[in-house]
Amino acid sequence: MELREDLTPFEAVNYFFHKAAAIDELSDAAVAVLTGTYRELRVQVPVRRDDGSLAVHVGYRVQHNGARGPYKGGVRFHPSADIEEVRALASLMTWKTALVDVPFGGAKGGVQVDPSALSTTELERLSRRYFGQIAHIIGPNRDIPAPDMNTNAQVMSWFMDEYGRRSGHTTQIVTGKPLALGGSEGREAATGRGVVQVMDKAVATLQMGAPRDLTVAIQGFGNVGSWAARLAEEKGYRVVAVSDVWGAISHTEGLDVGALLGHVAESGSVVDFAGSEPMEPGDLLTADVDILVPAAIGEVITHHNVADVRASLIVEAANNPVTPVADAELTSRGVTIVPDILANAGGVTVSYYEWVQNNQELSWDEADVNARLERKLGRAFDTCWSFYQAEDAAVSMREAAFALAVKRVVEAASLRGYL
Ligand code: NAD
Repeated sequence: MELREDLTPFEAVNYFFHKAAAIDELSDAAVAVLTGTYRELRVQVPVRRDDGSLAVHVGYRVQHNGARGPYKGGVRFHPSADIEEVRALASLMTWKTALVDVPFGGAKGGVQVDPSALSTTELERLSRRYFGQIAHIIGPNRDIPAPDMNTNAQVMSWFMDEYGRRSGHTTQIVTGKPLALGGSEGREAATGRGVVQVMDKAVATLQMGAPRDLTVAIQGFGNVGSWAARLAEEKGYRVVAVSDVWGAISHTEGLDVGALLGHVAESGSVVDFAGSEPMEPGDLLTADVDILVPAAIGEVITHHNVADVRASLIVEAANNPVTPVADAELTSRGVTIVPDILANAGGVTVSYYEWVQNNQELSWDEADVNARLERKLGRAFDTCWSFYQAEDAAVSMREAAFALAVKRVVEAASLRGYL
């Protein structure tokens, strides 16, 4: 597949897939199946506004591949959630679940909406209507949604309730629920925890030095970014710059993340945090730091800014944050990229644990969940690293991760008899 700057998000994921397909020597038929999606549903989501008017949104649920188990993937509420983005995120879930070896396939959902413009009651009506519209293709052994950008445990509660009204009480229908409704201990922090675990493993493997001597910049301070910041600080890293949709801040000695979390809880943003200096948001990605953690949206490191990126390690907490053109340039410069399908897989791993606990109607304590998460991600990192080394670094970490994941999906699909 040709390397171009204007690939759609789904084409970009398929660009990486094609490299893996070449390494794994896949047949043309397998490539044809896996570069497409199994099922795509587009739904109209009409929502009554509080003022009595009707707003009409578009929603999607895309199921990419279910060879290894029920479809699994988050739901995003975002103005730019279009079909190509949802397809890309669904396929990334297929590769992510295979790489960390949880028995799920890949799916994703999205509604094109700016949720910050909605009241809580409007958000509830939107969530229920969307879930009702996709209810016929989901199920606890069929497709299990979860939170993603701008959706959270409250939205999952409304989803579960809406499904329960039709099909009876079914906790396993979504993950990322609040504890009171069958959520798992450790789920909220899981993605950020996984990001910091693989970052730490990469730092040790690459012999980058002690955490206290390493600086980190994090784009995005939502669920993933804020937990990553908190846990990175706990391990001794210096988190020197963070940003959110409203702006960016920095402090060369390292931000006090605990105090920053308090500031965000009060003000709703990282901006104007006492003792920090304001920063141009775009400059965060090119800041003079050792480690860059994009934890907000996709396609933020592109041909426009890649030449200025100075970090030597990039840990992809967000999905699809580096375009293929930028990936090629960074790789040729010797920058190590821990790819999204490994770096942010902590979330789906603990979602899987939540689903297992719901199926068994029991709950594990947080230490147990975190220990299982650490073992699973540690194993996935080591497997990728060994593959990378066995290929004499002729492949990147991303190519190693995709090649391993694709091989597992192809094996399952072949055993089932449809490849
Ligand atoms: P979130 O909605 O909780 O937070 C998103 C954060 O990004 C917010 O701080 C927001 O202000 C910021 N942001 C948005 N646009 C920005 C921009 N242009 N520049 C700077 N900051 C911006 O979402 P989240 O759950 O933390 O997810 C973040 C990323 O991680 C997404 O790419 C998501 O797909 C990925 N991810 C999340 C999970 C999970 O478990 N939540 C799992 C895997 C991957």
